[in-house]
Amino acid sequence: MNPLLRTELGWLGGVLLAGFLIGLAVGAPIAFMLVFCSAYAVWLLVRMANIVQWLESGAASSKAPPTTGLMDQVVGLIHREKAYSRKQKNRYRSTLARFNSLAAELPDATVVFDGQRIIQWSNTAARSLLNIHEERDQGQRIDNLLRAPEMLQYLGQADAGIEVEIASPVTPEKTLSMIKVKAGKGMTVLIARDITQRVKVREMRKAFVADVSHELRTPLTVIRGYLEMVLENKSIDAPTRDALVNVEAQSDRMHHIVEHLLELSKLEGNPLGESEGEPIMVSSLLHSIGDTLKKSIAQHHQIEVNADDGLLLLGSESEIYSACSNLISNAVKYTTQGSKISVSWQLNEHAQPELSVHDNGPGIEPQHLHRLSERFYRVDKGRSRDSGGTGLGLAIVKHVAQRHGGQLLIDSTPGTGSEFSIEFPASRIASMAKVMNL
Ligand code: ADP
Repeated sequence: MNPLLRTELGWLGGVLLAGFLIGLAVGAPIAFMLVFCSAYAVWLLVRMANIVQWLESGAASSKAPPTTGLMDQVVGLIHREKAYSRKQKNRYRSTLARFNSLAAELPDATVVFDGQRIIQWSNTAARSLLNIHEERDQGQRIDNLLRAPEMLQYLGQADAGIEVEIASPVTPEKTLSMIKVKAGKGMTVLIARDITQRVKVREMRKAFVADVSHELRTPLTVIRGYLEMVLENKSIDAPTRDALVNVEAQSDRMHHIVEHLLELSKLEGNPLGESEGEPIMVSSLLHSIGDTLKKSIAQHHQIEVNADDGLLLLGSESEIYSACSNLISNAVKYTTQGSKISVSWQLNEHAQPELSVHDNGPGIEPQHLHRLSERFYRVDKGRSRDSGGTGLGLAIVKHVAQRHGGQLLIDSTPGTGSEFSIEFPASRIASMAKVMNL
């Protein structure tokens, strides 16, 4: 038996025995036993009430009421629990203080706001990057402080996790990269980073590539012109002709690379405005590309076009032509004769216009898929060169898609085939009425 319970029972037994003996002396042992027992119960209840009162008052442990036996044990356990939770509370408090001081000093501006866009917390960097002061602006609506239209549009977007580049509201020459993160209980964390330097380097690289490509264009045109002229001369001996034909093929390749690099530099990081562009009859573009390829590299391929004639896209016709042509000619280049290529232009299950080019070729191993749209990335360098590839086709397709607010999706199974799709936003659908008014 629990020793404490044994002691308590001993006390109760003692009280009952005392009542019995005194009662025996006056001739009423049972009545006296009951009186003593009740007095003992009242005494216990009073002690319990004192303990409850002490707990409710939240007074210090040193102010605990005097106890004995089982009650003493209960009070001891409560002491221990209180001391433990005090220690835990101090630990949490110091962790929170450490976190707050760390977050306050983060180089990225961080602002936490609730579902009503009321600022709950911000750090020191938010002052210099967003002009939001941690004390002054707490409790203010964030959209009353960040009033630039592109900033308001970004704050209004329901999607979190999308990164955008926006001019700083404090110093417009600076570029900020902004991201919103959902953080439970309706809170959103807005993080802004100064990427002015990164943008400058990117612009310099773009300008350099565009300048070099441009500078190469003129001498290349001259070389190709002279080569054409020399090759027209019938008196050239066979070995020299072979060498010159080779030089011509290489200069053609260089010409394609230069043209593709120039095309890319025009597309990169330069999105079309919401309503910018012309209504494009994508279905006729696809039929025309299919017919052209059937007369050249796709003579032994089956190309099936399944396009919705009434579905028009608002955008740049030359860019969409280039993207479609790159995807369909890739499907021809990387599959064998007799392969089937299905081209489709329809609304997808999300009511978004989608272009997809499916082939039943060799497919692509999964480890290459995420790198395919990088410049000069090829699965098989030899095959790409032999088929006249520049390694820039899919990079162009990706940038055309992004310029139109869409995305390039790639799905491929080795041994079965590949599907390259461009999913455009529904806002890019152009109405037939607009075309008629043109
Ligand atoms: P390239 O000029 O080499 O065709 P792209 O950027 O158009 O460059 O394509 C990149 C690589 O993706 C290609 O070199 C090829 O390996 C692979 N690829 C593209 N389309 C297909 C396809 N339909 N089937 C298999 N591989 C493909």
